[in-house]
Amino acid sequence: MKSVRNWSIRQAKWLHVVYEGMEGLLVLISPLLRRIGWQRLDRGFAWVEGLIKGFLFDSQSCGQCTLGSTGLSCPMNCPKTLRNGPCGGVRQDGGCEVKPDMTCVWVKAWEGSKNIGTPETTIQVIQPPVDARLKGHSAWLRAVRERLGELS
Ligand code: SF4
Repeated sequence: MKSVRNWSIRQAKWLHVVYEGMEGLLVLISPLLRRIGWQRLDRGFAWVEGLIKGFLFDSQSCGQCTLGSTGLSCPMNCPKTLRNGPCGGVRQDGGCEVKPDMTCVWVKAWEGSKNIGTPETTIQVIQPPVDARLKGHSAWLRAVRERLGELS
């Protein structure tokens, strides 16, 4: 829902702290998670993640979350699914070229990054191309495994 999505951008500072804290907690309990099995946990985590992130950010559950680098604005809501900045078609009023009634997700990403307080360092992180095989899988578990150095 667009209004909730916009609210989340406005509240990006503390939501980002909560988000980071939760990831830290998952890293902390990672020995337990590993013991249960990443594969076994994936479906349940992806379901919860889809509910929470779908509600707050209109997440499209791509499985490789960029929210931490895009001011909590999900780039998968861009009609062109651009993950590294806006196209050349952003309108004067910040509206999307394809969907004029929607503010460009990258205008929102800049706004959210400023609210978090580190726009220069976060939004300039280059995102790899989207891997369609990860859609529907848990990005949280993936992020934890990346932090643990278990994924290349
Ligand atoms: S204007 Fe923004 S949201 Fe619309 S297609 Fe271009 S980058 Fe995507």
